[in-house]
Amino acid sequence: MSNIKCPFCSDGEMSHQVKPETHSYKGLSITVNQPGMYCNHCDEAILNGDDLKVTRRDIHDLHAAGDGYLTSGEIKRIREKLRLNQKQAAVLLGGGVNAFSRYERGEAKQSKAIDMFLRLLDSDPSLLDRFEFDGENISIKPVASKSWVSVSTTKSHLRVIGASNPTTRSVKGTAKLIGRTIGHASDNKIAVNGY
Ligand SMILES: [Zn+2]
Repeated sequence: MSNIKCPFCSDGEMSHQVKPETHSYKGLSITVNQPGMYCNHCDEAILNGDDLKVTRRDIHDLHAAGDGYLTSGEIKRIREKLRLNQKQAAVLLGGGVNAFSRYERGEAKQSKAIDMFLRLLDSDPSLLDRFEFDGENISIKPVASKSWVSVSTTKSHLRVIGASNPTTRSVKGTAKLIGRTIGHASDNKIAVNGY
């Protein structure tokens, strides 16, 4: 690109250079290497679309962080931690088929709901197990039905004789009770209701 006369001061010439440029937002600041046409006489510069593209993601991230949103790099880190490709992440979290490539390039900001969902999954990736997900379709697995225990009644006692699923954590305590007497037959509202 040849030098052009500066349209702002008329005294200088503009040439394409890369200069450090500091951006501040809500108490945060970054310095980026910003390409553009810079005047050798005044402080003016002309940035075209290609120039802005170079620093777009860094500036996007500054604003995201300032507004309390995940940055493009954080979104990518969480997605990879969850072992999802961009398409799967979009099916899981919404936003459209190209959503994650746009978030991760700093071209679009995720919704607050997607931001919060990603933070939740980052803190506890096992939450993904709650979903029935084949890469194309997603649904939430039905919550397991309430566990139960069966009791036998003797003349004077209630005895636990079984439990629906002794391997689940909520029933482990119950499993220990199998074969044991847990109350009197007259205790109609026995504590098994709580299991
Ligand atoms: Zn100038």
